Amino acid sequence: MKSFILGILIFVSWTAAVHSQQHIHGQGSVFIAQENDLWQVQFVLPASDILGFEHSPENEQQRLIAEQFDQKQKHFENLIQFDVNCTQVNYSQSSLEFGEDEHSDSHELSDNHEHSGEHEHSDIEILYLIECPDEVTQVSFPILNSSNNLQNLAVQWSIQTGQGSTLINPKRHQLKWH
Ligand SMILES: [Zn+2]
Repeated sequence: MKSFILGILIFVSWTAAVHSQQHIHGQGSVFIAQENDLWQVQFVLPASDILGFEHSPENEQQRLIAEQFDQKQKHFENLIQFDVNCTQVNYSQSSLEFGEDEHSDSHELSDNHEHSGEHEHSDIEILYLIECPDEVTQVSFPILNSSNNLQNLAVQWSIQTGQGSTLINPKRHQLKWH
């Protein structure tokens, strides 16, 4: 598994928490942290739930699916929506290397080349830094309604009004803090 390169570090300790999470098909994880107007939101989503496969795209159809999600994930509103106007400050993602052919002829003895014949689990990790000048009291997760195989999101938050965690599903895809 590649190390996750954070665009901007606010709560570094959460990276360790993310990597100790279990990979459960159908369930993603979301980590929300707030520091004044800045919100850091990290998604860890099983690639199988988002793309339908857990490896680099191997044909045109898979490349198209990967490209579509790549475009989609660039805007936080496609994954999480706040009840106030917010602006995306930064975004980074790491997981599958879209567009790169990992199965090159120079068969290096690295982790990246082990999965050609076997099943390997992959997560898509996306980090947003979002600025919300007004008080946020509620967020919702449209990603749950646009990904067929994603059934739950285990959401953890550490914000100015407190900490907590809950399981979000498409029927109850809003998280209210007040
Ligand atoms: Zn998997």
